[in-house]
Amino acid sequence: MIEIKRKPNYLGIYIHFPFCLQKCHYCDFYSLGLNEHNLDIKEIEKIFIERILEEFLLRYPYFKEFNKINTIYFGGGTASFLSAQSIKKLLQYFKDFFLFTEDCEITLEGNPEHLYDKDYLLNLKEIGINRINVGYQTKQFNFLQKMNRYYNPDHYEKVLYNISSIFDNWGVDLIYGFPDQTLEDFKKDLDFILSFPLKHLSLYSLTVEHGTMYEKLIHQNFLKEPNQNLQEEIFLNLPSLLKNYAFIQYEISNFAKKNYECRHNLRYWLYEPYLGLGPSSHGFNGKYRYNNYRNWLKWLKNFHENYTIHEPLKEIAITMFRLCIPINLKWIENITKHHQIFLDFFMEMANKEFGTLTSLENQIFFQWNLEGISLLDNKILEFFEKIDQLTYIS
Ligand code: SF4
Repeated sequence: MIEIKRKPNYLGIYIHFPFCLQKCHYCDFYSLGLNEHNLDIKEIEKIFIERILEEFLLRYPYFKEFNKINTIYFGGGTASFLSAQSIKKLLQYFKDFFLFTEDCEITLEGNPEHLYDKDYLLNLKEIGINRINVGYQTKQFNFLQKMNRYYNPDHYEKVLYNISSIFDNWGVDLIYGFPDQTLEDFKKDLDFILSFPLKHLSLYSLTVEHGTMYEKLIHQNFLKEPNQNLQEEIFLNLPSLLKNYAFIQYEISNFAKKNYECRHNLRYWLYEPYLGLGPSSHGFNGKYRYNNYRNWLKWLKNFHENYTIHEPLKEIAITMFRLCIPINLKWIENITKHHQIFLDFFMEMANKEFGTLTSLENQIFFQWNLEGISLLDNKILEFFEKIDQLTYIS
């Protein structure tokens, strides 16, 4: 059984750099396309780093009880726009306030247009980045082109060779279910990626998010909807497609080789604390949550100090239920005194054959099966209905 420990006494830091070369039609992250806004990246980077340091100082009092950091994640947008010097400056600053654990995972997420560059990768390694995640999505450029995603064939060709020659712990994001994509197309992407020694694979089905350009272009009949039949077929076949490569599905969209799970992303699903910095990021200190403005200019002007108390019953369902590894009831007991509600729900799910309940060394574990995972959104809603009824009765 895969062994994951919940570590609520350690803190993680997330930094959101909200700029990309151009905005992908399907993208729902807060990010601005430099090409569309005519912005100078060097100027932006300088302002961004200064502002992040200011935000860190403002948030610090809410997190100072944690004296150790075990994960840091530079995401976006396209965090690989940040120079190694800027990242180093942030890491050194954080070190003035917190200790880093010996195995502190420090991830940079980026795109092929920067991560193909060997000198950049070497500099990242030198300043302490020890994990790379690359937004590859697909090697079939016609799909990227239709979705307005920037690509340069030369970078796409080199990037995985170069990352694998420098980093041990690295992963790739792929998207599946593009309109007109076939299973064979997807398998070509997968086979190509799996010919490299990557340790982590995130597989996302293309979705139409509200307010995106993709949604608009579908309504105007310029683009087709995602290929849902293909998405279902791929989702159900993923475990067998990846079986021979020793990848374990530890979250609904995430697969990793043993001991190479993304420890930072696990902290969201394990209900651990994190300090989020940058526009649109959010934070949680174990009791209070906050959300930053999803707006670069507003974030530059002032920070959104809207701390609200967490709501563990619903939030555990939204986060921890996404795990495909066994969920330890002890984790929930340590967060809320209402853990019996979860045990009852897990028993019901096990009776209805959506998962299994096991007991090992005085601990109880629940694990979804493939059917449970494929119906996860509905199952979370069912759980919400149950707790709403309980709140009403009490
Ligand atoms: S590169 Fe990533 S973050 Fe940027 S617009 Fe595309 S999907 Fe969004």
